[in-house]
Amino acid sequence: MAESAHSRIFRDGLLDQQVCLVSGAGSGLGRETALELARLGAAVVGCGRREEPLVETAGLAAGLAGSFETYASMEQVLAHEEWPEDERPGTAAYLCGTLPDEAAREPARASAAVRQHIVEFLQYRAIDLWPHAFDSEGRFQWNLLAGGGNAEGPPRLESQYWTANVDPSDRYVQSLPGSLGHRLQANEAGYDNLFLAGDYVRTNIDLATMEGANESGRAAVNALLDAAGAKAAPASMYTLYQPPEAEPFKEIDRQRYRAGQPNLFDTP
Ligand SMILES: Cc1cc2nc3c(=O)[nH]c(=O)nc-3n(C[C@H](O)[C@H](O)[C@H](O)COP(=O)(O)OP(=O)(O)OC[C@H]3O[C@@H](n4cnc5c(N)ncnc54)[C@H](O)[C@@H]3O)c2cc1C
Repeated sequence: MAESAHSRIFRDGLLDQQVCLVSGAGSGLGRETALELARLGAAVVGCGRREEPLVETAGLAAGLAGSFETYASMEQVLAHEEWPEDERPGTAAYLCGTLPDEAAREPARASAAVRQHIVEFLQYRAIDLWPHAFDSEGRFQWNLLAGGGNAEGPPRLESQYWTANVDPSDRYVQSLPGSLGHRLQANEAGYDNLFLAGDYVRTNIDLATMEGANESGRAAVNALLDAAGAKAAPASMYTLYQPPEAEPFKEIDRQRYRAGQPNLFDTP
């Protein structure tokens, strides 16, 4: 396991060069123990009854929040890519996950952690998504990764595009509780001739979506027209469409929230 955040109790590097075996490292105390030992520099060998939770513990130790949370089949982009005919991929898959701020502060480690995470995802998790990409003994078929030439196993990843988004401007702006007041409006850049547009800008749609980004573009245009004293008609502004069909489900969720229960989708 790679190291993760620094321990708040013991000194850094206390267990450098040490190897620790943790049983039951997939959950509970075992997982926390494994994570703490890894933070202190130990090479941790975790064991447990089920492979999946162990892989997740390894991902957490590497500074990642969990498995990939978003998967999208992006086959439609292939028509716009140039490939030698005999190497043309059959499909394209995009996978995204959360890289905590703490991990993003150390780019080289973040990059190594993401790469390791992809390897583990393909070896242990991807079987749920792509069962036919595994042989009869449950091994991922690395040769299915397009463009890898003669490389075998994980080195075939070098032909794929993967990245750890560590630059602040590449980070994803979430709409977390209490964060609204920190957003700037299009005309609040602090410079007379600079107007802000992007999904982080405060509009009627404070959500990281295409709608929010578009709305901020219109807000920037209107701020500019305003500052210039232009007579042109301003762009129309919108609010986020709230589908009435979703109301009953939202009401159930509100009731569950008041009762201290998780959202229905978060229950096993
Ligand atoms: C995994 C994922 C799934 C999503 N799914 C959906 C969805 O289903 N529906 C939806 O509506 N929205 C979705 N979103 C959100 C949506 O993609 C964003 O809200 C939207 O793209 C934001 O647009 P933007 O123009 O504000 O920023 P971006 O699209 O991030 O554009 C900013 C651009 O600026 C460039 N840049 C940064 N710094 C510099 C610099 N210094 N110089 C020059 N260029 C720079 C960046 O490279 C980037 O191209 C998703 C986002 C993610 C990450």
